[in-house]
Amino acid sequence: MIKKTFKSLIKNGLFNLRGEINRLMFDKQFIILTYHQINNEFIPQSHMPGSFINLKVFINQIEYLKKNYEIIPLPELLKMLNEKNIKGKFIALTFDDGDKSNELIVPILVREQLPATFFLNTAYLGNEQADFCRIFNYLYHNPLKKHLLTNEIINNYEQIFVTKDKNLYEDTVNSINSLYNNIIAEDYFYTNYNFIEKLDDSLFTIALHGHEHHRFSLMTYECQMNSLKQNQQILMDFKTFDPVFSLPFGGYYDYNFDTLRVCGEMKLKMLLNTGGIIRNHGLILPRINVGQDNLKGLISMQNII
Ligand SMILES: [Zn+2]
Repeated sequence: MIKKTFKSLIKNGLFNLRGEINRLMFDKQFIILTYHQINNEFIPQSHMPGSFINLKVFINQIEYLKKNYEIIPLPELLKMLNEKNIKGKFIALTFDDGDKSNELIVPILVREQLPATFFLNTAYLGNEQADFCRIFNYLYHNPLKKHLLTNEIINNYEQIFVTKDKNLYEDTVNSINSLYNNIIAEDYFYTNYNFIEKLDDSLFTIALHGHEHHRFSLMTYECQMNSLKQNQQILMDFKTFDPVFSLPFGGYYDYNFDTLRVCGEMKLKMLLNTGGIIRNHGLILPRINVGQDNLKGLISMQNII
């Protein structure tokens, strides 16, 4: 019996157990949440299944978070971590990609006086271009336009999220990007600079997500540096700018040593989307990607070690 329990502890992760003990004993939590698209209804050509959340669910989540955590600005949370001065249960809200639904969310956050950080791809604000995933998803779910996606693109699409083959990645991404002009204006995905300009700097910050939404692990050192420099150059003109970088796609396979070099040289902290426990106070920090799952279950075991 003991052996079995021990085995299951190993299987389920001793870190979770340690996190839970910390939580019960010290009542200390520190969590960064990531949101993407939020809307009243899921529209297959406009929203991505893994990163969409229903507006009502979002509002319920906010209510839960307000009752159980202190929601503080990301820069404040990072400062606490730096100073190793965390006493309480804290949440920072972040929203990636500059999605059009930010326009729906900001009035709610203002009404509730809740701080948040928006990670923006500067190439897409204003809808001159879009992330290849959004373009593919739009065409794939549009019966009149699906034929524009060749069999080759469709076959390669799943692979480009995991491949190490730069040519396969670039060729496929470029082919998809060239189809952008088939998206009509009323279906555009992103908000615009006008909206970003008006964000209240007492509540909100804007931060880096790359000029374009690419897997940094498949870019050269120079391209990674140029992308972040260009991203920063544009965003630093806004009073809400804060120099933090959330990695596009955010997984372990989406960055490499050059990414760390670039972040080090630009003095940026990098946020991933890997969920889980914060084990150090260093350059890289995990975040939890919020989907339609039960948020309470998702965050109850998260902690600082
Ligand atoms: Zn993103």
